[in-house]
Amino acid sequence: MIPRTLFSSDHELFRDSVRKFLEQEAVPYHQRWEKDGHVDRALWNKAGEAGMLCSHIPEAYGGMAADFLYSTVVIEEIGRLGLTGIGFSLHSDIVAPYILHYGSEAQKQHYLPKLVSGEMVTAIAMTEPGAGSDLQGVKTTAVLDGDEYVINGSKTFITNDWLADLVIVVAKTDPKAGAKGTSLFLVEANTPGFSKGKRLEKVGMKAQDTSELFFQDVRVPKENLLGQPGMGFAYLMQELPQERLTVGIGALASAEAALQWTLDYTRERKAFSKAVADFQNTRFKLAEMATEIQVGRVFIDRCLALHLQGKLDVPTAAMLKYWSTDLQCRVLDECVQLHGGYGYMWEYPVARAWADARVQRIYAGTNEIMKEIIARSLV
Ligand SMILES: Cc1cc2nc3c(=O)[nH]c(=O)nc-3n(C[C@H](O)[C@H](O)[C@H](O)COP(=O)(O)OP(=O)(O)OC[C@H]3O[C@@H](n4cnc5c(N)ncnc54)[C@H](O)[C@@H]3O)c2cc1C
Repeated sequence: MIPRTLFSSDHELFRDSVRKFLEQEAVPYHQRWEKDGHVDRALWNKAGEAGMLCSHIPEAYGGMAADFLYSTVVIEEIGRLGLTGIGFSLHSDIVAPYILHYGSEAQKQHYLPKLVSGEMVTAIAMTEPGAGSDLQGVKTTAVLDGDEYVINGSKTFITNDWLADLVIVVAKTDPKAGAKGTSLFLVEANTPGFSKGKRLEKVGMKAQDTSELFFQDVRVPKENLLGQPGMGFAYLMQELPQERLTVGIGALASAEAALQWTLDYTRERKAFSKAVADFQNTRFKLAEMATEIQVGRVFIDRCLALHLQGKLDVPTAAMLKYWSTDLQCRVLDECVQLHGGYGYMWEYPVARAWADARVQRIYAGTNEIMKEIIARSLV
């Protein structure tokens, strides 16, 4: 196996503490959370205390100013344990960077320490019932009225939404200007006119709270605009490579875990008086999966190294998002097959991971959109 070289002993110490935290605070409860449709709110505060949220945020705003490998460790450990209900990465690695990169000093001081401590849970609301891949088709509007923006519209499929205290909302401030009329707003969940719809029943990721959002004459001070008016689309394009990297990191971690479960299972399980792992078909499938995962691991780690240098470009991030999530789904499907009927039983981690994996090819930009992005860079 090709050794991983990016992580220092400090990263590995952090990994141990994250794993212990998750084994203690999440693993015993995840099944209940799947039934509840969300994780316990207290998990967020405990994670904040343990330094697991927004570790990259500068110390001036309560963070540890850590490099992205600390975030990677959190994503990988959550992925390995199949704890797909936990939306820390969306909060830490997707929402917080918007505030850090585009927020005013007052917004940073007000919100970032609360994100680090887990006092506030966050979400980002781009998708609407009629606009997912084509974000230029967003219909939610924000109209300036004196010192306030008035927001109207609705959103759907929003991760962390049920527990969210703060949502970054994508809205049109100039509907005639297309992408250039799109802006981002910080909207607190207790703002009058802001309501959450039902928690959506998903095929997998059942402990992840995903829901709808409605805005009816929601008034926010004009200071809640994030960055400049009309720049929302440009900001989204800037931040999406990191979002896609986080999805790829989780995909690889999940595929690696599934391969390990399948190795363990097929060594134990007997058929025709021998271990399933002894059939040539099983051995070849395991060998193929191990090879593809190794190829993916090297690619992801190379992308991580580029990202640490601020050099991960948009097409490469699209390649890694589409390829790693396709790989994850291929591996999970094969692993279910090698578990036989038990692979289809919810109590088996491999069954859950298989159901959880499917959406990875859909969100953060569908894999078809990823191919469009890659193709645009070629032709
Ligand atoms: C569990 C879950 C969590 C999510 N979390 C969030 C969140 O936190 N915040 C948020 O804003 N959104 C979130 N989403 C929404 C997600 O990002 C969208 O579902 C996704 O971008 C696809 O949009 P859509 O569902 O409208 O599909 P559509 O855009 O309608 O796509 C339908 C099909 O058409 C294809 N297609 C569309 N355009 C093209 C094209 N130009 N070329 C080729 N094929 C194309 C797509 O690839 C897809 O196969 C989440 C979704 C899910 C399921």
